[in-house]
Amino acid sequence: MPVLHNRISNEELKARMLAETEHRKTVSFYKYFNIADTQKFRDELYIKFYELKVFGRIYIAQEGINGQISVPDSNFEAFRDALYAADDALNGIRMNIAVDDDGKSFWVLRMKVRPKIVADGIDDPTFDPSKMGTHLKAKEFNELADNPDTIIVDMRNHYEYEVGHFQNAIEVPSDTFRDQLPMAVEMLKDQKDKNIIMYCTGGIRCEKASAYMLHNGFTNIFQLEGGIIEYARKAKEQELPLKFIGKNFVFDERLGERITDDIIAQCHVCGKPCDTHTNCKNDGCHLLFIQCESCAAELQGCCSIVCNEEKNLSAEEQRERRAGRENGMMIFNKSKDHPLRKHRDQWKQERFANIKIHQPNS
Ligand SMILES: [Zn+2]
Ligand SMILES: [Zn+2]
Repeated sequence: MPVLHNRISNEELKARMLAETEHRKTVSFYKYFNIADTQKFRDELYIKFYELKVFGRIYIAQEGINGQISVPDSNFEAFRDALYAADDALNGIRMNIAVDDDGKSFWVLRMKVRPKIVADGIDDPTFDPSKMGTHLKAKEFNELADNPDTIIVDMRNHYEYEVGHFQNAIEVPSDTFRDQLPMAVEMLKDQKDKNIIMYCTGGIRCEKASAYMLHNGFTNIFQLEGGIIEYARKAKEQELPLKFIGKNFVFDERLGERITDDIIAQCHVCGKPCDTHTNCKNDGCHLLFIQCESCAAELQGCCSIVCNEEKNLSAEEQRERRAGRENGMMIFNKSKDHPLRKHRDQWKQERFANIKIHQPNS
């Protein structure tokens, strides 16, 4: 019976990965194409990738495949051949190989069948995601970005935009991609004569977003091929001027890949220039937020004094406090209130009462 799912504990797997001596490449890829039997496709690919010590997460849906993985350098070619061979549509699929990376982002292979590779909320049967906008390579992007009749649209979330984005790019201020689609149409409805360039982290969201704009009567729709990841790689390789400033947020251990030295965000606690994302170390919070080193030291990695106190309670006391409170992974967002925000703001007021310092305008 071949191995089809992981059965080893997370700690053990992480320890094994850290004990590896061989360097790993961090690779992301996606492709929209029709997969008839998703479970069969998934299982066959899992067996091959498991043998090649591929770690990471791969989503498979009827509409295609989307993966962020790491692979030992010596297995890279075998991995690529296996992926190319999995379907005709995947032969020659573009892969983004992360720059500035130690390859230690993943320690287990998770492969899941899902309804969609990117949830879009679109149930219009006349929508054809294969009719997408014109792809732009890094050089073409730079040229079109310099055109005064161009609008650059960031299709990522606020916390991603916050630490790094293209110069002059506008945000589509919603929490979810499915809400961003109709919002982008509404925001840009009077700009149909302009060139609209859409971009996201790796390009996968904009394949759909650009198709959706065309579906809604826009004509000059462009998208950055391979997203920020590919742009950064190509721009550096070809020594093009970098129009992206700051950090490219990625959802792995590193929580971001630095593109330029510019720090465009602030610590959410003290307001000092900072673009390091972290999760609050209080297990009852886990808020994803930006925190500088000195605030991290002072609060033991917690988002607030309230969380810091809670973290230092006994396990039993922590459980009691958490009972009945809404939990789960939270992400700092300007449009949403953190449940502990009131306490945090109060603490900030007290803390800064006697010090004249730049206050964050969060
Ligand atoms: Zn700080
Ligand atoms: Zn917290």
